[in-house]
Amino acid sequence: VEQSYIMVKPDGVQRGLVGEVISRFERKGFKLTGLKLFQCPKELAEEHYKDLKAKSFYPTLIDYITSGPVVCMVWEGVGVVASARKLIGSTNPLQAEPGTIRGDLAVQTGRNVIHGSDSPENGKRETALWFKEGELC
Ligand code: ATP
Ligand code: MG
Repeated sequence: VEQSYIMVKPDGVQRGLVGEVISRFERKGFKLTGLKLFQCPKELAEEHYKDLKAKSFYPTLIDYITSGPVVCMVWEGVGVVASARKLIGSTNPLQAEPGTIRGDLAVQTGRNVIHGSDSPENGKRETALWFKEGELC
């Protein structure tokens, strides 16, 4: 079954947006199979974002993701990866459509509230990276 790894980033947790994010995914109708509050170690952040290692913003990104607890989730369902990306909106919140999470709740690319897997393959990879098998229902 298709999985998307969804994560409320530290700014979203600090701003009290966890319920809002979970609510949007629940209302859409996907199935929640993993959920935890977690302080991400630097090594895990680096592995998660390894494809962005060459980018100028990479060190800032690692500092951001490890700056406080994140809420890690796995959502399942047919088409969940693409649908979650639509619910989340564009990377730059100023370009994200109203009605999307980033479009409604954020203004800065470097503080854009939420992560969502960009392909079903990465959904599997990221789920295995962030969750142990026994943590998933
Ligand atoms: P995510 O992977 O977090 O769901 P995304 O797929 O929309 O976001 P990516 O290109 O994978 O975007 O970038 C990962 C994250 O790196 C972005 O969500 C953002 O937090 C940060 N980022 C991307 N581009 C920039 C930038 N130009 N300046 C600062 N941060 C950036
Ligand atoms: Mg991405």
